[in-house]
Amino acid sequence: MRLKIVQAGDPVLRREARPLTVEEIALDPIQQLIEHMRETMRDAPGVGLAAPQIGLPIQLVVIEDRAEYLKAVDPAVLAERERGPVDFLVLANPRIVNRSARTAEFFEGCLSVAGFSALVQRSSGGTVEYLDAAGKTRVLEAAGWLARSVQHELDHLDVRLSIDRRDTLTCATIDDLGR
Ligand code: ZN
Repeated sequence: MRLKIVQAGDPVLRREARPLTVEEIALDPIQQLIEHMRETMRDAPGVGLAAPQIGLPIQLVVIEDRAEYLKAVDPAVLAERERGPVDFLVLANPRIVNRSARTAEFFEGCLSVAGFSALVQRSSGGTVEYLDAAGKTRVLEAAGWLARSVQHELDHLDVRLSIDRRDTLTCATIDDLGR
């Protein structure tokens, strides 16, 4: 089932997301939600989706960067962004426990700020602790574009949007960027 992605201005994007318990992750409602979020993210298409973006203030994020998306991108851009394929990831209650001091600045978009892209500076790497779809504790060492995606999605759980971090002078519509 494809879910409606709420847009900037919707108050749910500004509500603090609550953590999930291991027990509720195992139950049907969350398991079904994970499948719906996967379908919604692929349909958009996007490389990440946080539960507040579909109207639920809970700490659940999905991320996936499919090889077929990367085929459409200039290899020089992929190299510069340190972007490679990422298998479907489910992160419940994610916490960044370590952040690289090295930063990078790139244009990034957001499914909740449709049509816009902004330059955002973020850490180039970091360590995130989370519960997976089975409720098991995991540690992810993320670098490059994946590190950016993780930080972007975690901002949604922390009631931040990339437009809050943007350099306003660089905020451009996708059409402007194309030109
Ligand atoms: Zn977003």
